[in-house]
This record gives sequence, structure tokens and C-alpha cells, in this order.
Amino acid sequence: LGPTVCVGEILVEIVATTPGAGFLEAQPLVGPFASGAPAIFISQCGRLGGSAALVGCVGADDFGQLNLARLASDGVDTGTIRVDPDYPTGSAFVRYRPDGQRDFVFNLATSAAARFGWDDATDALLARAGHLHVMGTALAMASAWEVIDRALPLVKARGGSVSFDPNLRKELLHDPEILPRFSRMVAQCDLLLPSGDELRMAAGTDNDETALTTLFELGVAEIALKQGAAGATVCVAGSEPVHAPAFRVQELDPTGAGDCFGGAYVTCRRLGMEIAEALTYACAAGARNVTVRGPMEGAGTRAELDAFIAATERRK
Ligand code: ADP
Repeated sequence: LGPTVCVGEILVEIVATTPGAGFLEAQPLVGPFASGAPAIFISQCGRLGGSAALVGCVGADDFGQLNLARLASDGVDTGTIRVDPDYPTGSAFVRYRPDGQRDFVFNLATSAAARFGWDDATDALLARAGHLHVMGTALAMASAWEVIDRALPLVKARGGSVSFDPNLRKELLHDPEILPRFSRMVAQCDLLLPSGDELRMAAGTDNDETALTTLFELGVAEIALKQGAAGATVCVAGSEPVHAPAFRVQELDPTGAGDCFGGAYVTCRRLGMEIAEALTYACAAGARNVTVRGPMEGAGTRAELDAFIAATERRK
């Protein structure tokens, strides 16, 4: 029906390698790596051979080139990625605390990351899009929301589907501009991909069972719960949930697991796989990605994920 489209921030990430060490002291850094949740998601779609495109913006610098080259080599259509001559590509420095929590130093506000909008290329892309994937971060980004707001009815009208990953800081739901966007996405999506307390957040309740019922009543057809090292579960109204245990891996860098999971799940479902098979590939994509440093360096091709699945034990 047409490509899977994602909209939002593209950046590079530079990663500190000593857990617990802050940026006040000199330490080895690795990167730059291509990054940004929408870029990670779409990279995984492209690597799996799904038709995929990203709407976003980079600067006319090496960091922008790095992202464009990486996405193009993954098979992603980069025709709707603007190159802004006046602003640098967005960037993030990340360091890990000993407990695995992350701290970021971002340069997004004064970067090229949000400097895109609806233009002729976007118009042509959305006229043939088959699926729109929305990241929670896009709800707090005026330019991304402008594109999504226009794209939603177009994609729906031509029979396309919509997925929503509600990864959004909870405080933002108190923002009178963002809450209605969030509610609209929950009501408009066919597939919801929550992790942690995002299921309850999406349904506005404190109870998981009530949350599922509420979301099905709103018209969400499929809910893929991301459960980290506990694997993932897909719930569909009226059927037994389908659970997949996680793969047993040594986690080196957790960034991007959920985005790779989402990119793989959406692509595999769009390629016609049943829920259980798509879920296995999605768990494999998430698990493989955490074994490699860099936010999307472990995103896998079909052959790489097949090899990973064959070689890796599942947790009980
Ligand atoms: P998010 O990054 O959105 O919070 P998760 O951490 O749940 O999402 O990761 C998404 C998926 O990736 C999980 O459902 C799981 O299948 C896989 N995954 C993530 N972390 C690990 C891990 N440490 N070991 C094995 N699989 C993992």
C-alpha cells in the first residue's frame, strides 16, 4: 500500500564509555552514531526490507551526511530529509550511570533537527504512504506535529494504518497543547507500542486490565507491550495475549531497543507475518540492538535476525 513513514528528530549521539563517570572528567567517547528515535525506528524498517521513508532535517555538515548515508544504506527513502545550510545537525552526548540510567547533554533547540515542515516532497510522500508511525517525542515538536496532523487523515483516507509509540515524559501530559495531541494519537492508532507505565498512561487509568479494555473500546486493534528483559506481549481484543520471552543477551547499550522493536514489529506485520512470528523478530531486533554500542548500530537485516534467533537462547 506504500511506504512506512516516520516524522521527527534526526541527530548524532556521542557516547561516554565509562559507566558512572560524568562529563566533568576526560574519558574515552565513542561515536558519532546516527540517532533520534524516528531515525532508529525507520532504520530498522529499512534493514528488514520494508519500504520506508523519514521526514526530518539535518545540517549541511558531516553529522548530517553520516545520517543520510546510513539511512540510505539501510534502504530508507531520504528524499524528505531536508538539509538546512544554516543550522548544525542535532546532537546528544550520553553517559550511563552505574545503575544503567542515562544522562544526556542535548543540542536540539538550536539545531537543524526541527527545521522541516510540510513541503512538496512531504506532500508527494504522504500521498502514497501506507503506514504512519508516530513517536511520542513528536507531540512536543511543533514542526513534527504539523506534518503528522496533516498526514493522519490522508493516510487513513487511503486505507493506511497508524502506529503510536507513546514514549513521552509524563510531565508533558500536563501541557494543555500536548495532552489533546496525545489523546488524539491514542484514539487514531491501530497499533499502540507502550513500555513501562505508558499503557496505563495512554488509557488514563491505574489498572492494566481496565487500560486494555479502554483502549480496545477506543478502536486500538493491537497493543504490543514492550517489557524489556521480560520480553513482549501482544494483546488483541477478544483473543488470548501472545507473549514472547526475551532473548538472553549481555546488554551493552540499552538505547534504541524499543525503537528497533517497533520498526521490526511494524515491518514484519506489514510484510504479512502473523503476530507470533512478527513478535519474535521484534524481540530479536530489540535484543540484538542492546548488544552493540550506539543507538542503532545493532539494527538487523532479515538474515542477521534469523542468525541471531537461531543462535540465541530465550529467557524463561
Ligand atoms: P523501550 O526501549 O521502549 O523501553 P524495551 O526496553 O522494553 O523498550 O525494549 C524493547 C524490546 O527489546 C523488549 O520487549 C525486548 O524484547 C527487547 N529487549 C530490550 N532490552 C533487552 C535485554 N536487556 N535483553 C533482552 N531483550 C531486550
